[in-house]
Amino acid sequence: MGELGGTGIPAQRFSGPSDLHLHSARSDGTEPPADVMASAHRHGLRTVALTDHDTTAGWAEAAEAAVSLGMTLLPGMEFSAKHEWRSVHMLSYLFDPDDAALRAETDRIRGDRIGRAERIVRNISRDYDLTWDDVLAQTTEDATVGRPHIADALVARGLVRDRGEAFDGILHPREGYYEPHYAPAPHRVVELVTRAGGVVIIAHPTPSGRARMLPEPVIHDLIDAGLAGFEIDHRENTEAGKRILRRIAADRDLIVTGSSDYHGRGKPNLPGENTTTDEMVARIIERATGIAPVYP
Ligand code: AMP
Ligand code: FE
Ligand code: FE
Ligand code: ZN
Repeated sequence: MGELGGTGIPAQRFSGPSDLHLHSARSDGTEPPADVMASAHRHGLRTVALTDHDTTAGWAEAAEAAVSLGMTLLPGMEFSAKHEWRSVHMLSYLFDPDDAALRAETDRIRGDRIGRAERIVRNISRDYDLTWDDVLAQTTEDATVGRPHIADALVARGLVRDRGEAFDGILHPREGYYEPHYAPAPHRVVELVTRAGGVVIIAHPTPSGRARMLPEPVIHDLIDAGLAGFEIDHRENTEAGKRILRRIAADRDLIVTGSSDYHGRGKPNLPGENTTTDEMVARIIERATGIAPVYP
């Protein structure tokens, strides 16, 4: 290959296997970014992306670790969006992290997530012995705060066995303690990330149950606005949904990815359980105009 990407850097300097969806303790993963890189390398990966929720705080540490392990890093982020009541996660790659409009939006989301987590804890504390300090004890400095940290606090209190049990019980909206957080519309995320030179892929776009897939007309509007593709091989996607998305991707010449959504000990997902083809990684790199990958 060896064509030039949007950044003027040859795209084919990386090698697979590639897993472009990993979380560190800068959001709701359980390991520092350097340890996430080491875990990925141990599982045989050679190209990875760090995609913490709504923050780029882990990029520098991940880049240094990836390079020392001989891996290529695509700096990324999982941008929180919302369509009506649906939470939509948008994997964003290779955008300029200093873009002012993008930073303002992610700062707003992270800030609102803190107040929202406090409200959830206040709700829970009416019925269970849980304090905000318990949650703070489970987060590292400037991490994006989410329900997983409340889950860890519930585990530390002995109220549930693990995050899974917390999400199936106390943290589930049906239990009545849930509070939403601010998130922009998917269109706004596509606009912000694209203007910052990045590439947007909808994460786990077809989960079962309440979250479900975005309506097809909305997906087509997002593609018109610059959406680059879908994360199709992900353990939470339904088979029926994957078939629909593969058809749309073929019709509209989109990028499709596969990834683990590794969260350290926070989820059973393991690095490399799904991977993205070299061809698709190259397309992401070539499409980006924000920043280049970090090569070893
Ligand atoms: P939040 O964005 O604060 O509402 O929390 C959602 C996050 O919780 C997602 O990013 C997932 O990584 C995590 N999550 C959702 N369900 C589970 C589960 N069953 N076990 C562990 N983590 C989960
Ligand atoms: Fe997460
Ligand atoms: Fe997600
Ligand atoms: Zn994720």
